[in-house]
Amino acid sequence: MQNQNEMKICFDARSVNEGFARIAVAAFIAELNPTLDEISDIKTAVSEAVTNSIIHGYQDPREKVELTCRIRDDVVEIEVTDTGAGIPDIPKAMEPFYTTKPELERSGMGFAFMEAFMDEIWVESKVGEGTRVRMCKKIGVSSDNL
Ligand code: ATP
Ligand code: MG
Repeated sequence: MQNQNEMKICFDARSVNEGFARIAVAAFIAELNPTLDEISDIKTAVSEAVTNSIIHGYQDPREKVELTCRIRDDVVEIEVTDTGAGIPDIPKAMEPFYTTKPELERSGMGFAFMEAFMDEIWVESKVGEGTRVRMCKKIGVSSDNL
């Protein structure tokens, strides 16, 4: 491996921090010279994962969301972790349009977007203990980079 770099941030489970998280990741991965499309895809995936921890994981905004971003050569790996409610049925939660909060006008598309915009996604969760979403995306494969 020639190029590696890692950062970790921890922030309150407040909606206002969703914007902070996506910009922090975008700034961190700038060294890879991603295209605007690649930046936009990664920012969307980060927003969805962070919003899920804030909205579904926690009820108390003083709880913490942890975000790790790793660069390994041309691959960006992002991990969003909460120690909140957890997900009882992960495959079901990942189905498009599945939401446990329809009353909040959630569309149930968060995981579908993460899957669409990133190359791979892994979800680990335990009820009462929390959730970790890990996603990766290779930078420089779209035709815009040529
Ligand atoms: P949208 O993301 O479109 O606003 P949504 O958040 O309900 O709606 P998904 O992001 O796909 O849709 O998540 C599906 C379901 O998985 C959620 O409704 C929730 O029940 C569960 N879930 C997702 N992330 C977490 C989490 N961090 N902690 C607890 N439950 C979660
Ligand atoms: Mg969501």
